[in-house]
Amino acid sequence: MNIHEYQAKEILRNYGVSVPNGRVAFTVEEAVEAAKELGSPVCVVKAQIHAGGRGKAGGVKVAKSLDEVRTYASELLGKVLVTHQTGPEGKEVKRLLIEEGCDIKKEYYIGFVVDRATSRVVLMGSEEGGTEIEEVAAKTPEKIFKEYIDPAVGLQAFQARRLAFNINIPKELVNQAAKFMMGLYQVFVEKDCSIAEINPLVVTGAGKVMALDAKLNFDSNALYRHKDILEYRDLDEEDPKEVEASKYDLNYIALDGNIGCMVNGAGLAMATMDIIKYYGGEPANFLDVGGGATTEKVTEAFKIILSDPKVKGIFVNIFGGIMKCDVIANGIVEATKQVGLNLPLVVRLEGTNVELGKKILQESGLNIIAAESMADGAQKIVELVR
Ligand code: ADP
Ligand code: MG
Repeated sequence: MNIHEYQAKEILRNYGVSVPNGRVAFTVEEAVEAAKELGSPVCVVKAQIHAGGRGKAGGVKVAKSLDEVRTYASELLGKVLVTHQTGPEGKEVKRLLIEEGCDIKKEYYIGFVVDRATSRVVLMGSEEGGTEIEEVAAKTPEKIFKEYIDPAVGLQAFQARRLAFNINIPKELVNQAAKFMMGLYQVFVEKDCSIAEINPLVVTGAGKVMALDAKLNFDSNALYRHKDILEYRDLDEEDPKEVEASKYDLNYIALDGNIGCMVNGAGLAMATMDIIKYYGGEPANFLDVGGGATTEKVTEAFKIILSDPKVKGIFVNIFGGIMKCDVIANGIVEATKQVGLNLPLVVRLEGTNVELGKKILQESGLNIIAAESMADGAQKIVELVR
């Protein structure tokens, strides 16, 4: 789960990690009021969307007076911001962060992520702050330094200091920077983050080390023990289809293609996406209805697929083990009764109660194309949406 910058900064503040003073605003009036309260000669008006790259896209504005705060706030609120992370459709700005302007001397990059190769949390740093870390990694990989963290003892002060030295934090500020990293590491571990990225981390004219931007992502599987984090969820920022799917505990991820997929089991769902691509098609989603799905759950899953205007055909690929084929068949019939179906539907059923499942589909009067195998089904649906 992702949260907004201002929310991430609230968490950091609670852990003693330095961030500039700031306030969230939902309206132009609130923005001006926030700037007044901050009382800073220079304020920064920052669009709050779940995507980075706002600076380059015009979503971060420096205001030197309350009038300018008003102007920028009215420009940004309601604007659809297109950054390289939002996709071409962009994201509408509904919240702003009004923040003290900071006298930046130099920008750095600091981030914690889980490294899959070593199964450890890794601290990464670079003196190329402000730029995407992916870009630094591609062009100047020697400028990225890493510290792998032993889970038994956590981030050690010497590691934090070594990283600070490596990225050329001024000597007299190394201890301050190390303290910052230790605090951020504590947030990462205690809040079950999957990413904690500060880009830029800055050194100010007055010799302070602080986070000018903050991106925290959380492991969804751990959210049950972080009610406080769940309160930060902003459904406006999420794909409505994914929000709907999460209500029914479905593993659904929206993708860009046009072939809707309904599959049981994450492995089979991945394989189904692969085989669709292999035959030249593009999946519109990843969907694992799981093992113990009920007819109701299958019905909802099918409705979610149908609600995607990009979907031009559907491929149901079920290997009934714990999941029974008749339950899937009933779900499909029920969903199409509720919302109609005028797209090609290819179904491949195997396993438990397969005969009953096929019978239910046959007697439903739906125009279903039966597939003999997974490859056969994939070829058929790719052909049909073409
Ligand atoms: P994004 O990563 O989405 O572009 P950032 O929060 O990193 O957004 O802001 C982009 C740039 O704007 C930063 O690199 C920094 O130079 C500047 N900036 C952001 N916040 C402030 C601030 N409070 N004071 C001064 N400059 C800022
Ligand atoms: Mg940034």
